[in-house]
Amino acid sequence: MKLIIESVSENEAFARTVVAAYITRLDPTLEELADVKTAVSEAVTNSIIHGYCGKSGEIEITCEIQEQEVIVRITDTGIGIADIAKAMEPLYTTKPEWERSGMGFAFMEAFMDSLEVTSEPGKGTSVLMRKQIGKGQDS
Ligand code: ATP
Ligand code: MG
Repeated sequence: MKLIIESVSENEAFARTVVAAYITRLDPTLEELADVKTAVSEAVTNSIIHGYCGKSGEIEITCEIQEQEVIVRITDTGIGIADIAKAMEPLYTTKPEWERSGMGFAFMEAFMDSLEVTSEPGKGTSVLMRKQIGKGQDS
Protein backbone atom coordinates (compact mmCIF):
# COMPACT_ATOMS: atom_id res chain seq x y z
CA MET A 1 0.00 0.00 0.00
CA LYS A 2 1.32 3.43 -0.86
CA LEU A 3 -0.28 6.66 0.25
CA ILE A 4 0.93 10.16 -0.53
CA ILE A 5 -0.43 13.00 1.55
CA GLU A 6 0.09 16.74 1.64
CA SER A 7 1.89 17.88 4.80
CA VAL A 8 -1.06 19.43 6.62
CA SER A 9 -2.10 18.40 10.12
CA GLU A 10 -5.60 17.44 8.96
CA ASN A 11 -4.06 14.56 7.02
CA GLU A 12 -2.38 12.98 10.05
CA ALA A 13 -5.60 11.38 11.32
CA PHE A 14 -6.38 10.19 7.78
CA ALA A 15 -2.96 8.55 7.41
CA ARG A 16 -3.14 6.66 10.70
CA THR A 17 -6.68 5.49 9.92
CA VAL A 18 -5.62 4.18 6.49
CA VAL A 19 -2.77 2.18 8.04
CA ALA A 20 -5.14 0.84 10.71
CA ALA A 21 -7.62 -0.23 8.03
CA TYR A 22 -4.83 -1.85 6.00
CA ILE A 23 -3.74 -4.09 8.88
CA THR A 24 -7.22 -5.25 9.94
CA ARG A 25 -6.74 -8.48 7.97
CA LEU A 26 -4.07 -9.44 10.52
CA ASP A 27 -6.84 -9.34 13.13
CA PRO A 28 -4.96 -7.02 15.53
CA THR A 29 -6.02 -6.52 19.12
CA LEU A 30 -7.28 -3.04 20.03
CA GLU A 31 -4.00 -2.46 21.81
CA GLU A 32 -1.92 -3.41 18.76
CA LEU A 33 -4.08 -1.19 16.59
CA ALA A 34 -3.63 1.72 19.00
CA ASP A 35 0.15 1.14 19.10
CA VAL A 36 0.49 1.22 15.31
CA LYS A 37 -1.77 4.27 15.00
CA THR A 38 0.23 6.15 17.63
CA ALA A 39 3.55 5.33 15.95
CA VAL A 40 2.28 6.41 12.51
CA SER A 41 0.80 9.54 14.01
CA GLU A 42 4.13 10.51 15.65
CA ALA A 43 6.12 9.93 12.45
CA VAL A 44 3.69 11.84 10.21
CA THR A 45 3.48 14.70 12.71
CA ASN A 46 7.28 14.90 12.73
CA SER A 47 7.35 15.17 8.94
CA ILE A 48 4.75 17.95 9.01
CA ILE A 49 6.19 19.94 11.90
CA HIS A 50 9.94 19.36 11.63
CA GLY A 51 10.53 18.05 8.10
CA TYR A 52 8.50 20.69 6.30
CA CYS A 53 8.28 23.23 9.18
CA GLY A 54 4.58 23.69 8.45
CA LYS A 55 5.22 24.40 4.76
CA SER A 56 3.74 22.39 1.95
CA GLY A 57 5.35 19.11 0.92
CA GLU A 58 4.55 15.47 0.29
CA ILE A 59 4.71 12.64 2.80
CA GLU A 60 4.81 9.08 1.51
CA ILE A 61 3.49 6.25 3.63
CA THR A 62 4.09 2.70 2.47
CA CYS A 63 2.82 -0.32 4.29
CA GLU A 64 3.29 -4.00 3.69
CA ILE A 65 2.41 -7.22 5.47
CA GLN A 66 4.81 -10.14 5.64
CA GLU A 67 3.16 -13.08 7.33
CA GLN A 68 2.13 -11.61 10.72
CA GLU A 69 4.39 -8.58 10.53
CA VAL A 70 3.43 -5.08 9.49
CA ILE A 71 6.17 -2.94 7.94
CA VAL A 72 5.47 0.79 7.68
CA ARG A 73 7.71 3.42 6.13
CA ILE A 74 7.08 7.15 6.39
CA THR A 75 9.21 9.39 4.19
CA ASP A 76 9.49 13.12 3.68
CA THR A 77 11.79 15.24 1.53
CA GLY A 78 12.06 18.00 4.12
CA ILE A 79 15.00 19.48 6.04
CA GLY A 80 16.39 16.18 7.33
CA ILE A 81 18.18 15.45 10.60
CA ALA A 82 21.89 16.19 11.16
CA ASP A 83 22.40 14.04 14.27
CA ILE A 84 19.96 11.12 14.23
CA ALA A 85 21.19 9.52 17.48
CA LYS A 86 20.70 12.78 19.36
CA ALA A 87 17.28 13.38 17.78
CA MET A 88 16.18 9.93 18.96
CA GLU A 89 17.12 10.57 22.60
CA PRO A 90 14.02 10.81 24.82
CA LEU A 91 13.14 14.43 25.69
CA TYR A 92 15.35 15.84 22.93
CA THR A 93 13.46 18.38 20.84
CA THR A 94 14.49 21.25 18.58
CA LYS A 95 11.12 22.92 19.08
CA PRO A 96 10.65 23.40 22.86
CA GLU A 97 8.98 26.78 22.15
CA TRP A 98 6.23 24.87 20.28
CA GLU A 99 5.61 22.80 23.39
CA ARG A 100 6.97 19.63 21.81
CA SER A 101 8.11 17.19 24.46
CA GLY A 102 10.73 15.26 22.48
CA MET A 103 9.01 11.92 23.02
CA GLY A 104 7.93 11.04 19.48
CA PHE A 105 10.77 8.69 18.63
CA ALA A 106 10.61 7.16 22.12
CA PHE A 107 6.93 6.33 21.55
CA MET A 108 7.64 4.85 18.11
CA GLU A 109 10.35 2.69 19.66
CA ALA A 110 8.14 1.62 22.57
CA PHE A 111 5.03 0.81 20.54
CA MET A 112 6.68 -0.95 17.60
CA ASP A 113 9.12 -3.91 17.57
CA SER A 114 11.77 -1.99 15.65
CA LEU A 115 12.51 1.52 14.44
CA GLU A 116 15.10 2.61 11.89
CA VAL A 117 15.63 6.25 10.99
CA THR A 118 17.57 7.35 7.93
CA SER A 119 18.02 11.01 7.14
CA GLU A 120 20.18 13.48 5.32
CA PRO A 121 20.15 17.23 5.96
CA GLY A 122 18.48 19.02 3.06
CA LYS A 123 17.23 15.76 1.54
CA GLY A 124 14.69 14.36 3.97
CA THR A 125 13.91 11.69 6.49
CA SER A 126 12.63 8.14 6.36
CA VAL A 127 11.29 6.18 9.31
CA LEU A 128 10.97 2.40 9.01
CA MET A 129 8.95 0.55 11.65
CA ARG A 130 8.02 -3.11 12.08
CA LYS A 131 5.63 -4.90 14.38
CA GLN A 132 4.43 -8.47 14.74
CA ILE A 133 0.64 -8.57 15.01
CA GLY A 134 -1.38 -11.19 16.83
CA LYS A 135 1.52 -12.64 18.80
CA GLY A 136 -0.39 -12.98 22.03
CA GLN A 137 -3.58 -14.37 20.53
CA ASP A 138 -4.91 -17.87 20.26
CA SER A 139 -5.33 -18.95 16.69
P1 ATP B 1 7.06 15.39 20.37
O1 ATP B 1 7.12 14.31 19.32
O2 ATP B 1 7.12 14.81 21.76
O3 ATP B 1 5.97 16.35 20.15
P2 ATP B 1 9.48 16.18 19.05
O4 ATP B 1 8.75 16.01 17.75
O5 ATP B 1 10.42 17.33 19.13
O6 ATP B 1 8.44 16.26 20.23
P3 ATP B 1 10.61 13.58 18.50
O7 ATP B 1 9.42 13.21 17.71
O8 ATP B 1 11.22 12.55 19.36
O9 ATP B 1 10.29 14.85 19.42
O10 ATP B 1 11.73 14.13 17.50
C1 ATP B 1 12.96 14.62 18.05
C2 ATP B 1 13.60 15.65 17.13
O11 ATP B 1 14.01 15.00 15.92
C3 ATP B 1 12.69 16.78 16.69
O12 ATP B 1 12.63 17.82 17.65
C4 ATP B 1 13.35 17.23 15.38
O13 ATP B 1 14.46 18.06 15.63
C5 ATP B 1 13.89 15.91 14.82
N1 ATP B 1 13.00 15.31 13.80
C6 ATP B 1 12.14 14.27 13.98
N2 ATP B 1 11.52 13.93 12.85
C7 ATP B 1 12.00 14.76 11.90
C8 ATP B 1 11.76 14.91 10.48
N3 ATP B 1 10.86 14.14 9.82
N4 ATP B 1 12.45 15.88 9.82
C9 ATP B 1 13.33 16.67 10.46
N5 ATP B 1 13.61 16.58 11.79
C10 ATP B 1 12.95 15.65 12.50
MG1 MG C 1 7.63 14.35 17.34
